[in-house]
Amino acid sequence: MHAVETLVVGAGQAGLAVSRCLTAQGADHVVVERGRIAERWRSARWESLRLLTPNWMSRLPAWSYPGPDPDGYMTAPELVSYLEDYAGSFTAPVHENTTVELVEASGSGLRVVTDQGTWLARNVVVATGTENRAYLPPAASGIDPAIQQLTAGRYRGPEQVPGGGVLVVGASASGAQIADELRRAGRPVVISVGRHARLPRRYRGRDILWWMDRAGVLGQTIEQVHDARSARRAPSLQLSGRGRPVSLDALAAGGVRLAGRLVAADGQRLSFADDLPATIGGAQARMERLLSTIDGYLARRGGEGADPADPPAPFTTPAGPAKLDLRRAGISTVIWATGYQPAYPWLRVPVLDRHGQIAHHRGVTSVPGLYVLGLKFQYRRNSSFVDGVASDARFVAAHVMMRRMTARALSA
Ligand SMILES: Cc1cc2nc3c(=O)[nH]c(=O)nc-3n(C[C@H](O)[C@H](O)[C@H](O)COP(=O)(O)OP(=O)(O)OC[C@H]3O[C@@H](n4cnc5c(N)ncnc54)[C@H](O)[C@@H]3O)c2cc1C
Repeated sequence: MHAVETLVVGAGQAGLAVSRCLTAQGADHVVVERGRIAERWRSARWESLRLLTPNWMSRLPAWSYPGPDPDGYMTAPELVSYLEDYAGSFTAPVHENTTVELVEASGSGLRVVTDQGTWLARNVVVATGTENRAYLPPAASGIDPAIQQLTAGRYRGPEQVPGGGVLVVGASASGAQIADELRRAGRPVVISVGRHARLPRRYRGRDILWWMDRAGVLGQTIEQVHDARSARRAPSLQLSGRGRPVSLDALAAGGVRLAGRLVAADGQRLSFADDLPATIGGAQARMERLLSTIDGYLARRGGEGADPADPPAPFTTPAGPAKLDLRRAGISTVIWATGYQPAYPWLRVPVLDRHGQIAHHRGVTSVPGLYVLGLKFQYRRNSSFVDGVASDARFVAAHVMMRRMTARALSA
């Protein structure tokens, strides 16, 4: 059995960020990763993906984008290199190809069983991301097994999808981008639209995320929103880093057929809710609120230097189809872009709530020494973004150091 003060599970941006903070404090720790550094960006992203956040928006503790194109958007392999370079910059103690199989209480610490041996740690930071389990709506189980089904995490590109039409379920960042790519590859595409976040890529002459950062929208804390649960379930932004809009009006203009929320499937026959105009109207209203927050910020700041407001024209559409027969429509593949859920089948300490999620406050759980990092809206709206994890990582690392000081003081 190896002993270590702190064991971090996962070497994505969250695990590396907390490792950087612990390194700065001289704290004994390891990072165990079941694949390689930034594994999700290697094996759970489609080939054409570009980040939807601009390059400058990749600030991690003691690390930022050094390249010539701060306003560009990295590919997934570029982000892998960026995170590998980050790990190399402080010789992060990463143990790759090491899967955590069990975490349980042991004496005053935590026993961590991996497929490469067992560790005894005073602290464990769970940084395993939010993509451990794809969420599929109940209708998924009713679909004819002859239809190929894929999750967005397994989608790689149009050539992987058998010939014929595709139904993409979900119209947030992944679903909208995948629908756009397949349509441009000449496929008939239907997209089933649920709650989504419509945004213009640019507003008043700047990237919309620049404004959201400046106006404090991304840094808003969970204590500042009135419904924390709903804020944590907010859909991802309907944006792309590939230089073309993936909003529903753009998709529809490109020939993608829009449908409401998928509610049931009976073999090849699918039913959709009659909610498309209302869903689109809701997204339009949320976008308008966001743009007026930005306008308010600008007005307070004096407004100098900003281009005039150029909000996108409202998009209206008639109700989508109530029914779709996949065979008749020539659809042979369904792609689920309906989101993910964190899952912790290996965590045997009493920190999971009734939804199977880790209960925490700012990453600190009720089990002494057990922390979590990188969750959606963990503390700030951008907690699960590359650019947002830094402040949570600093907070968790500071808590680990405080525990160490308290233990030393008690034993002195
Ligand atoms: C399609 C997509 C596009 C995105 N685009 C952007 C973007 O443009 N900009 C942005 O800021 N954010 C983006 N995000 C959000 C976020 O940045 C990513 O989800 C990111 O991967 C989260 O980093 P993380 O370190 O929290 O988790 P992950 O990257 O998921 O890292 C967790 C690591 O834990 C490892 N692991 C899991 N279980 C175990 C175990 N039992 N034992 C050992 N290791 C384990 C995994 O292999 C993985 O490497 C995107 C997300 C998705 C899904």
